[in-house]
Amino acid sequence: MANIEKIKCLIIGSGPAGYTAAIYASRANLSPVLYQGEQPGGQLTTTNEVENFPGYPEGVMGSELMIHLEQQAKRFGTDIRNGWITKVDFSALPHKVWVEDKEIHADAVIIATGASAKYLGLPSEQHYLKTGGGVSACAVCDGFFYRNQHVAIVGAGDSACEEALYLANICANVTMLVRRDEFRASQIMKERVLKNEKIKVLFNTETEEIIGDGQVVTAIKVRNNKTNESTEIPITGFFVAIGHKPNTDVFKAYIDTDEVGYIKNVPGTSLTNVKGVFVAGDAADTRYRQAITAAGSGCMAALDAEKYLMTLE
Ligand SMILES: Cc1cc2nc3c(=O)[nH]c(=O)nc-3n(C[C@H](O)[C@H](O)[C@H](O)COP(=O)(O)OP(=O)(O)OC[C@H]3O[C@@H](n4cnc5c(N)ncnc54)[C@H](O)[C@@H]3O)c2cc1C
Repeated sequence: MANIEKIKCLIIGSGPAGYTAAIYASRANLSPVLYQGEQPGGQLTTTNEVENFPGYPEGVMGSELMIHLEQQAKRFGTDIRNGWITKVDFSALPHKVWVEDKEIHADAVIIATGASAKYLGLPSEQHYLKTGGGVSACAVCDGFFYRNQHVAIVGAGDSACEEALYLANICANVTMLVRRDEFRASQIMKERVLKNEKIKVLFNTETEEIIGDGQVVTAIKVRNNKTNESTEIPITGFFVAIGHKPNTDVFKAYIDTDEVGYIKNVPGTSLTNVKGVFVAGDAADTRYRQAITAAGSGCMAALDAEKYLMTLE
């Protein structure tokens, strides 16, 4: 037989969900193997300071937090490997997973592959995202850094409205940029946004450029797509709320997802529609998408996997 490895518990992904699952699974003697994927440490390695993860009263750099979680998983014996899952076959037990041409047979699989925020793709947006100087895709994560300041948010759906309202509570004012002449959000969310005195909505408005001094954002240039008129708006924070893409394409032939690609779990658990396959973190989270909720669901997935594995013995 070709290069087949048999393992008890496979964890796919090295964000807070994957590493927390690994800590619990290794302490439960499940000998977990964890594949890190192309982004070891996950999304938090793309940000600077994290101030809302419990246990760090002074805050912590995102990459440092992820090194701590990795070290904790290693301490209990998790086998942490580089590699990207390219194919799966969950049609029969054991579950089959391929890391390029290596075939793995796993009794239990925990999917913790996260989700990626969508951005506009403007070079200036990507520049200030990298400098950490004023572009963010998460109001709950970064809004506090802009308290009493002027910010803008782009998006038109329910999440964008929720994030605009969240920012309005913290910031001096919020300019909301909507590309079309109407929101995509539900009536109630639209009304809340339009009624909020700190939010100014600009319809038919597209972002042309994020302006700054090379390190931090100072303004945005926007264009009205009806009149073609361009204006500059002074801001210090630019929030993008145009959706996320869950990293779940590779599982879709076997695992039930919603229309966006979020994995469907049995409410209150990490169970998917396939026995022995569990999900944790942003890959199944349409609502919270926070490091602490990802970590919490990683714990749930490891406990669910442990219970499941006991039934196989
Ligand atoms: C810029 C930014 C700032 C943020 N700030 C905060 C904050 O301050 N506080 C907070 O609580 N949250 C914050 N978040 C949100 C937080 O990062 C996420 O909620 C959290 O990382 C989700 O964890 P996860 O483990 O589900 O997935 P992720 O962190 O997304 O990790 C997914 C992992 O899966 C791997 N993977 C994906 N596909 C495959 C595959 N096919 N094979 C193998 N591996 C694969 C990736 O390599 C990665 O390691 C921020 C997010 C961003 C983008």
